[in-house]
This record gives sequence, C-alpha cells and structure tokens, in this order.
Amino acid sequence: MPELPEVETVRRGLAPAMEGASIRKLHLARPDLRFPFPEDFAALIEGKTIISLGRRAKYLLIELEDGLTIIAHLGMSGSFRIEAAADGAGNNNAPGAFHYARSKDGKHDHVVFHLDKGEERVSVIYNDPRRFGFMHLVERNKLDLYPAFAELGPEPTGNALSADYLASRFQGKSQPLKSTLLDQKVIAGLGNIYVCEALWRAHLSPLRAAGTLVTKTGEPTPQLIDLTEKIRAVIADAIAAGGSSLRDHIQTDGTLGYFQHSFSVYDQEGQPCRTPGCGGTVERVVQAGRSTFYCAACQT
Ligand SMILES: [Zn+2]
Repeated sequence: MPELPEVETVRRGLAPAMEGASIRKLHLARPDLRFPFPEDFAALIEGKTIISLGRRAKYLLIELEDGLTIIAHLGMSGSFRIEAAADGAGNNNAPGAFHYARSKDGKHDHVVFHLDKGEERVSVIYNDPRRFGFMHLVERNKLDLYPAFAELGPEPTGNALSADYLASRFQGKSQPLKSTLLDQKVIAGLGNIYVCEALWRAHLSPLRAAGTLVTKTGEPTPQLIDLTEKIRAVIADAIAAGGSSLRDHIQTDGTLGYFQHSFSVYDQEGQPCRTPGCGGTVERVVQAGRSTFYCAACQT
C-alpha cells in the first residue's frame, strides 16, 4: 500500500501534465473499481480545465474549474502513468518521467484522462490490477464533509503538526506510541513504515505509553518536541527521495525505489542497529496486528 510520500510523489509527477490541462475525454474501461465510478462521471468532467492537483493524507485531489474535485485513492496497487497521445498530435515528451508505475498491462488500464494542454495532447492512465483504488466526485466546498476527511488529523508535512498539538492528543494516554501515531485522527497519512522510522530516529520505544511524553501541566516533553521534528523530517526525506517503492513498487526506469535500501529499522529484523555506538539489534514485534521494527537497546 502506498504511503503518504509515495502519493505526494505521484502528485508531483502528475501535476505538470494535469494542471492547466482541459479534459478532452474520459475513458472508463469498466463501471467500477473498489466502488462504482461517479454517476455521469465523463459528462460532468469532460471539457473542464484542471486548476490544480492537491493531496489530503493519501488521497489525490484533482480540482476542476467549476468547483468539483475528483478524489482519487490508489488502493493497494494503483498507479498513474503519463503517455503522449498516440495520435501524434502531441509529442513524445511526456511531462516528467513517472514514478511508481508498476503494472503497464493494458488490461488493468481502467481510467484514461485524455488531456489537452495548449498544443500538447497527453493521456494520464490509471492502472490498478487489484482494483482497491477508487475515484469520487465531490463539490470542493463540501470536501470537509467527505467521510474520510471529516476526522483526519493534521498533515505530517505542514506546520499544523506541532509538539503542542501532539501533547494535547497524547495527554493521559496509556496506549502505546506506535498505535497512537498510526491513528489517522492524530496525524493524517502517517503509516507503519514512517512511524517505525521516526520512532527509531527519536530513540523512543514504540511500546512506551504516549502519555509519558507529556508533562503534568500538559506541555510536550523535550522528547516529544524531538519526535515531532523527526516525524516531519522522515516524511520530508521520503518525499525528497521520490517516495519509497517498497518490494513491488518499481519506478519507471525499473530500479527499485530509494527507500528500499535506506530504511533504518523497517523490515530490518536481525540487522545491527544503525545508531552510532548502539550495538543493538533490530527486533520485530507485533502491535495491533502490525509489525513493528525497533531497537530495544537505544529506543526507550
Ligand atoms: Zn539501537
């Protein structure tokens, strides 16, 4: 499943092709993915200009000129790719090599946005072998009411994620740090990999009670201030690296993604801890049904 940095990488890869383009034609190869496509989907968006491409948590937001927004989720195996129009009206310079493409098997090309941008014609193709992805169409001024967005916490990329905010959410909590950080109501879009990595960077045990990082008066402890910085840094680093491509996520040039080789603890069970001078070994434990990787020697 793609995590937030991958979705952000997808957004950045698609933006040059999609922003400012008009949707000449929408092709749907089937009536549904995980959910049915919006009623009259093509009729509602054809001829419209895409004004911007945004993201909330792991959802892409394709904002149209008339106040409608397409919400797109990649599910387990979804990917987009950009192709120059086959009719030769465009050129072969697809705007930006695309990331995260994994399946190019035409039988899994379920959605094609045929776009016009000035003289250029490109196709943005959504491919999804397992079809857990989906697209919804909502009015932009009602985005906050969209069920998946209604209770989402702040993004881990922006200033809204502060130590004071986390202290307010952690106060009095005996729940482990790991599961607290995975709660999408606390932080939006933070997943298993980056929670493990951030906790390792902050030298904090995933098993520790979240409330132990808050003072009696409700202030963040220095450790929580540090953890907040580490969460933001681990996400920023992953986005900068072009998103991770874990195991089956292959970039267009066929190489495995950067983070495959650079996770410090995630999926590193039995490996020596990389904290300088630590000498510990990365362990795996299961918390709330999910694997947690950490070093018991330096994460306390
Ligand atoms: Zn260690």
